[in-house]
Amino acid sequence: MIYADNAATTKTSPLAQKVMLDAMERFWGNPSSLHTPGQQAREALQSAREAVAKAIGAQPREIYFTSGGSEADNQAIASAAKVGAKRGKKHLITTAIEHHAVLHTVEELKKDGFEVTLIPVDESGIVKVSDVAAAIREDTALVSVMFANNEIGTIQPVAEIGALCREKGVPFHTDAVQAAGHLPIDVNAQNIDMLSLSGHKFHGPRGVGALYVRRGAPLLTLIHGGAQESGRRAGTENLPAILGMAAALEDAVAHMEENGAHAARLRDALIDGLSRIPHAALNGSREHRLPGNVNFCFEGIEGESLLLLLDDKGIAASSGSACTSGSLDPSHVLLAIGRPHEVAHGSLRLSLDRENTMEDVEYIIKAATEVVNYLRDMSPVWKALQRGERDYVIQ
Ligand SMILES: *Cc1c(COP(=O)(O)O)cnc(C)c1O
Repeated sequence: MIYADNAATTKTSPLAQKVMLDAMERFWGNPSSLHTPGQQAREALQSAREAVAKAIGAQPREIYFTSGGSEADNQAIASAAKVGAKRGKKHLITTAIEHHAVLHTVEELKKDGFEVTLIPVDESGIVKVSDVAAAIREDTALVSVMFANNEIGTIQPVAEIGALCREKGVPFHTDAVQAAGHLPIDVNAQNIDMLSLSGHKFHGPRGVGALYVRRGAPLLTLIHGGAQESGRRAGTENLPAILGMAAALEDAVAHMEENGAHAARLRDALIDGLSRIPHAALNGSREHRLPGNVNFCFEGIEGESLLLLLDDKGIAASSGSACTSGSLDPSHVLLAIGRPHEVAHGSLRLSLDRENTMEDVEYIIKAATEVVNYLRDMSPVWKALQRGERDYVIQ
């Protein structure tokens, strides 16, 4: 099987697995206990906090471990919103292409009287800094713009947006779940106040993540109970997962350049190969793009059937986001870049990384071309397009 769905999750690396097994053997104590096994666990926890902080240029005390990217996003946004509301600030800014962990959280806050501005993106899937500037108001409690998009891989101008927010005195959060371990992150140089990351997007384990919160930035507790994580996130720490994530992140950062160059080479070859299919179009900017992300629309076919036939040929891919597949709604990200519904349904995301090879790419190009042709041969829509009874959306 060729695994080309690394944006949905990555395989836990042998290194992370080893660290986790070792943690279960050695650090089974409760980090809050005063005895020796507890203190050994506490030291291990602190070393993981230091490693995660170092990977993004933060201080260890600014790192809060969570159950993953979704929880980190929820906590960051709910905290900034509630702290803002105490000062009469009930306006939130985010973008039309965020992950649902962000979009559904701001949607929920609307019920509590918050007003939300969703910044649109241009057809390349990039947020304009000037649009964020125009949206900021006296009563803006938070700006949240993702670092890199999980569907179309576009990289946002976070440092510039961060600088703008700093100047205006508005807290700035970024969902960096797709970026951490893949793109250079420095929370100081990039003016980031809050940042979410998740272990399973860089070959660490699932169900663990981290929220970075700059000292002085708003942070409230969502999960109440014990005093773990400086009282901001109760619950006995999932130490094996935390250590596995920290090791995977350190490893990803140490090999970022070579892994990124490798994935980008494969990505570019795959984009070139799929571009040869007629009436196919790349979604999202070609330059400001995650190293491993390829996302195409093919006119006249359904993404679901494409995926199933590719799976049959031994290729694991995705249509849009793992969270939206299973629903019949087309991806909000593809709609946001201006793809019409009928074309947004025919999308394919292939996310490659360090484990993929050029042979994988050649096979994917061959298989995808065959499958697209096969589906088009059976598609009434395609036949209508060919007879000139409908107009092509993708030229
Ligand atoms: C995967 C993902 C999340 C959710 O992270 P989990 O750890 O699975 O909760 C949030 N945002 C983005 C951009 C993601 O890709």
